[in-house]
Amino acid sequence: MGKVLVLNASYEPLNITSWRRAIVLLLKGKAEQLEHSNRVLYADLPFPTVIRLRYYVRVPYKEIPLTRRNVLERDRNTCQYCNTKRDQLTLDHVLPRSRGGGDTWENLVAACVRCNVKKGNRTPKEANMNLLTKPRRPHSSLHFELLKCTQGNHNQEWKKYVIGI
Ligand SMILES: [Zn+2]
Repeated sequence: MGKVLVLNASYEPLNITSWRRAIVLLLKGKAEQLEHSNRVLYADLPFPTVIRLRYYVRVPYKEIPLTRRNVLERDRNTCQYCNTKRDQLTLDHVLPRSRGGGDTWENLVAACVRCNVKKGNRTPKEANMNLLTKPRRPHSSLHFELLKCTQGNHNQEWKKYVIGI
């Protein structure tokens, strides 16, 4: 609890901040409140959950490194073949390495050991194992953070403002 989604003036997600920082932005008139929780900070001031800046901020692009951990996080620690969620997942090459499949965001997915072994040296089509989602490069590190913050029942009201989470 306590995280606030900050939207740019253009309504695009900009970053995630603490509720304290969000309150300061609101009180200074630098942002407007779009969503709030049922909890009240004091008097008429509910805890903000989504705010929007009144001015536009330019954001530099930040590349996300392709690492095992980041692929697993992108896939929400869920096997992309059988939808099992667990800690001990492997990385599966969608097009097997032995057949020219590379280490790329588009060719790596989280898979449980069982599915990985079952699929073996085949493509998903050959193995008749469908991928839950088409693997792709994460949009941005912010998008990555947003995925993490909206797992389970957390910050559901953010989804209105973010595409693809
Ligand atoms: Zn599986």
